Amino acid sequence: MSVADEKTVVRDYFNSTGFDRWRRIYGDGQVNKVQLDIRQGHQQTVDQVLEWLKADGNLPGLSICDAGCGVGSLSIPLAEAGAIVYGSDISEKMVAEAYHRAKDRLSLIQKLSFTAQDLETLQGRYHTVICLDVLIHYPQDQIPEMISHLCSLAESRVILSFAPKTLALTILKKVGELFPGPSKTTRAYQHREADIVKIFSDNGFSIQRQTMIGTSFYYSRLIEAIRS
Ligand code: SAM
Repeated sequence: MSVADEKTVVRDYFNSTGFDRWRRIYGDGQVNKVQLDIRQGHQQTVDQVLEWLKADGNLPGLSICDAGCGVGSLSIPLAEAGAIVYGSDISEKMVAEAYHRAKDRLSLIQKLSFTAQDLETLQGRYHTVICLDVLIHYPQDQIPEMISHLCSLAESRVILSFAPKTLALTILKKVGELFPGPSKTTRAYQHREADIVKIFSDNGFSIQRQTMIGTSFYYSRLIEAIRS
């Protein structure tokens, strides 16, 4: 599939069945056991990023690009902690939901903006660029271009998460079952950590902090890369 076709599939998914599914998972309403497990795993990823950034002690006023922001699960608490957050997502529906979740919090208006945009068309410079649980939707051959572009936007650091390839295929299958759209065309791709580290290195970044987050159905390698 061409890059453009792949993106169209992902965008259509997150504007239709994927939107309904992920809005529920990333919410606080009732969900099934698998979805609850994924919700909790994803929350651990969000909490870990917040912990890292708060520990640095310079979050207020820091410019942050949250590429593929979904419903704002990270963007909103980051803005609440004082960062200036530019959230964007390829899906108009996800962005609209993020805006809806943020809009009643008046204190956020100055600190938070949401745009419907593919991450590869993003421009500007941000102190920190974050991209959580997005790469899972793209095959390996598209990853170098995506990460290189994220690096080009980052003055200082990139934080991203991906599903590591070292895990058993059975887990890949479980993750794959999270995307049961009518055509089953939206797949889950795992990525080799060594490949990701090499792409960062090629772009002048080195790994600073990293951790693994795993529940029964959610697996995510979280890494922070600093411009060297
Ligand atoms: N990062 C968010 C979080 O962790 O809460 C959302 C994660 S969700 C699994 C993946 C998100 O990536 C979806 O909202 C989807 O629309 C978005 N996405 C997929 N491909 C994208 C792209 N090329 N550019 C921007 N967003 C993209």
